[in-house]
Amino acid sequence: MTRHTATVAGIVVDTRHWIGGARVASATTFTDESPIDGAVLGEIARGGQAEADAAVAAAQAAFPAWAATPPAERARLLRVIADGVDKRREDLALVETTDNGALLRSHRRGVMPRVAHNFRFFADRLDGLGHEDFDTRGHTNHVSWDPAGPCVLITPWNAPLMLATWKVAPALAAGNTVVLKPAEWSPLTASLLADIAAEAGLPAGVLNVVQGYGAEAGAALVAHPGVRRISFTGSVPTAKRIARAAAAGLVPTSFELGGKSPLLVFADADLDVAVDLAVEQYDNAGQVCLAATRLLVESSISEEFTRRFVARAAALRQGDPRDEATDIGPNIHARQVEKIDGFVRRAVAAGARTLLGGGPNTDLGGLYYRPTLLTDVAQDSEIVQEEVFGPVLTLQTFDTEDEAVRLANDTRFGLAATLATGDRDRAERVAARLVAGTVWVNCFFVRDLRAPFGGSRESGVGREGGTWSFDFYCDLKNTVTAPKGWIDRG
Ligand code: NAD
Repeated sequence: MTRHTATVAGIVVDTRHWIGGARVASATTFTDESPIDGAVLGEIARGGQAEADAAVAAAQAAFPAWAATPPAERARLLRVIADGVDKRREDLALVETTDNGALLRSHRRGVMPRVAHNFRFFADRLDGLGHEDFDTRGHTNHVSWDPAGPCVLITPWNAPLMLATWKVAPALAAGNTVVLKPAEWSPLTASLLADIAAEAGLPAGVLNVVQGYGAEAGAALVAHPGVRRISFTGSVPTAKRIARAAAAGLVPTSFELGGKSPLLVFADADLDVAVDLAVEQYDNAGQVCLAATRLLVESSISEEFTRRFVARAAALRQGDPRDEATDIGPNIHARQVEKIDGFVRRAVAAGARTLLGGGPNTDLGGLYYRPTLLTDVAQDSEIVQEEVFGPVLTLQTFDTEDEAVRLANDTRFGLAATLATGDRDRAERVAARLVAGTVWVNCFFVRDLRAPFGGSRESGVGREGGTWSFDFYCDLKNTVTAPKGWIDRG
């Protein structure tokens, strides 16, 4: 293995930064390992202040020409990138699975098609952006969506390319240039995206990728005075650090953060649907921001629900995520597993009862945490209030709709909520009272790019998706023109 290269099943990834249309090495690297089996995948360029400065300078230099590129041409290039993603779908899926441990079957069939769709969707949306004109006492108002400037985009490891392109696509469509800093635990597909964008003919400096640790490359990028937007997906503590850095230049930020979402199961629900929804919360080994990790079940059906849930969840197949038959793969990193296990141990020490799982699956190795269900948990306990980001669910019961809503809303988060009920009126009533950016009724994880996406309270700031993405990535301008004063040059 050479420095600044990673190899996954024969696919070679250049792990240098991508700055101003060229590969750039760093003096130091860090090691990238697969959570599947701990295999070393490669050495990644470790960026810091110098690389952040170079990347923002490249984004600044490329900005005027890209901003002036006609929207139709920008949209065309985004569609060529989408085609490039489709062409490399199998490679991208395999690299992503090997790098972050999420299921290959999901990457192949769901995630990578969605990555391509991110580009096509925002290309189409750009075509339809309104440039409103209206009259004020004979004066014309013309509202335009001006690109904001260089954007820094910082992403986590649980859905690396999907979350990166959910930001890159609208930022580029709007006419901005970007610097993407992927998470250090799963950096590889960002580099492949740089290759795909270059092959598509995206001009140099429009998309830049800086690899490195959050405290080094990430911190240098968000503090850079040349940046005009920061979009971040990750944890609440990091968001607060970024907000402080952004405050120096009053740079607008978009934050998509953690959650502790509830699944409310009412006695009038179709129990099969409710159990399916609950078991789905173990997807991606629980490393899903939207996961409904708090099961709130009406007391009268809680015994039957629990029996069926435990039977279903115990049958999930845990193992190598490259195997099509696997339902749950590994967690990302030994540090993350320690964190998950710490939450579970402290909960048990505080009186929680373990109905399922409760530790790593030692047959598979330390990173495969067993799907876990805890009950007898107090509403104000750590396990109910804090995001675990692993396959750990809690079960609580309620007797009335009011109590269900009170428990559901009683955390500092507000990302999503899921309801299982057979009563349409109840669904409407309860949905209206929940504090959440997204409410799903008898379904989960249905995500349409036309919908606003984001969280309330500490789950986020702002909304993206549809035209909301352009609201964030653009500076809106109104040009008011008087009816007279023109010089006739005829
Ligand atoms: P994290 O905050 O530790 O890291 C996220 C990114 O921020 C990484 O790229 C990291 O290198 C970078 N970073 C860290 N410190 C930084 C700093 N000081 N300045 C700039 N960048 C810095 O989060 P994580 O553990 O990688 O991701 C898990 C979290 O992300 C969970 O809380 C999860 O809920 C959340 N998440 C939210 C969504 C959403 O859409 N709401 C989606 C996925 C994940």
